[in-house]
Amino acid sequence: MILKNIRYLVTQNADRQVLENVDILVEGDEIAGIGRGLDARGHDVIDCSRKVVMPGLVNAHTHVSMALFRGISDNKLLENWLEEEIFPAEEEMDGEDAYYGALLGITEMLKTGTTTFNDMYGYMDRVADAVDETGIRALLARGVLDMDGNGRERIDEALEFVKEYQDHGTIEPAIAPHAVYTTSEGTLRELKDYSRIFDCPYHVHVSETERENEDCIEETGLTPVQYMDSMGLVDEDFIAAHGVWLTDEDVEILSREGGSVIHNPVANLKLGSGIADVPELVERGVNVAIGTDGAASNNNLNLFEEAKIAALLHKRNDPRRLTEQDVLDMLTVNGAKALGLEDEIGSVQIGKKADLVTVDFDELSMNPVYGKRGLISNLIYSFPGKVSDTLVDGEVVVRGGEVVNIDESGLVRKVRGRTRKFDDRSGTPI
Ligand SMILES: [Zn+2]
Repeated sequence: MILKNIRYLVTQNADRQVLENVDILVEGDEIAGIGRGLDARGHDVIDCSRKVVMPGLVNAHTHVSMALFRGISDNKLLENWLEEEIFPAEEEMDGEDAYYGALLGITEMLKTGTTTFNDMYGYMDRVADAVDETGIRALLARGVLDMDGNGRERIDEALEFVKEYQDHGTIEPAIAPHAVYTTSEGTLRELKDYSRIFDCPYHVHVSETERENEDCIEETGLTPVQYMDSMGLVDEDFIAAHGVWLTDEDVEILSREGGSVIHNPVANLKLGSGIADVPELVERGVNVAIGTDGAASNNNLNLFEEAKIAALLHKRNDPRRLTEQDVLDMLTVNGAKALGLEDEIGSVQIGKKADLVTVDFDELSMNPVYGKRGLISNLIYSFPGKVSDTLVDGEVVVRGGEVVNIDESGLVRKVRGRTRKFDDRSGTPI
């Protein structure tokens, strides 16, 4: 396949080059060539003369099946939201619900330019089915908590999942304890052993709320990051979701050990958790990427929207903080690095996976263009998110704004049918 005459190519390579009027040759799942006038004979051609092409985006923290719970509850703090709304709804959930929730969430992500997502949740084998069917790329982990006494079952399931998905298409397995307030020390340690044995990331919610920090300090004398560092859990494979209440010493530890922080600005705002000090993290050399968290606390999975909110949130007192390029890095190369996939995705370079997104250059919100900086500015501040085409692993999965592998109206009907059983909790069924 060849993407021909690309109007602007946002490479996100080491020099952050934006190229004009170039072609991309895709062979199999990889980018095999980038240049002008590449020979198109014998290849399927996508005309990109009116397109901006960029790397597919990385949603670095989500629970995709929770798309099923979009709009189920608003106006609650995280702890009330979880205990009163989400945990009871999840008790009603089965594998088929998780599968359809995942299809709904993935379809939305593909149409808004996300080509890779990082997930922790239950029924991960069914989420994996949805990943395979839609053609997206994902880092998947069975989330583990043990506060209810059922930890062993979940640990075994998590381990089975990692073993089964060691070498499976666009799926990479990971290890994911839920958080220090739901998972015991023994389980946190045991899971780290598996992360080391299978060489996969260790993904955990960290310092999402002030209460999480206070409770951890009361019980252990340490913040969540210090507590986990004292067990040797923090290293380059450590993915800390949220990091809203990180202390100075926490940032020092993350910077020293090479852990990543995933910023989820919308979920943090919506649940009243607070605002992570992202500029400080960036300044001190911590790798920061962006996630949407689940759709129940967002309530969409559109990373372009998330990016604009992230940028504005940190400019609120000083417009010099976080440039449009910083935010684009978080959506692409930093996300790839957090997931341990920096050699495969995150930028448009020869030898990397062909995970690409095209944006209509003639769309109103993309015009006018004040040079290369203006182009990035339009992508972060103005473009609403609906992309033209999405390629993952060299396959076209969105064409002309429509998903290729899913019957979208049929999916919506299925999802509506499955959510009736949750309606008791949220009011009158529609
Ligand atoms: Zn989360």
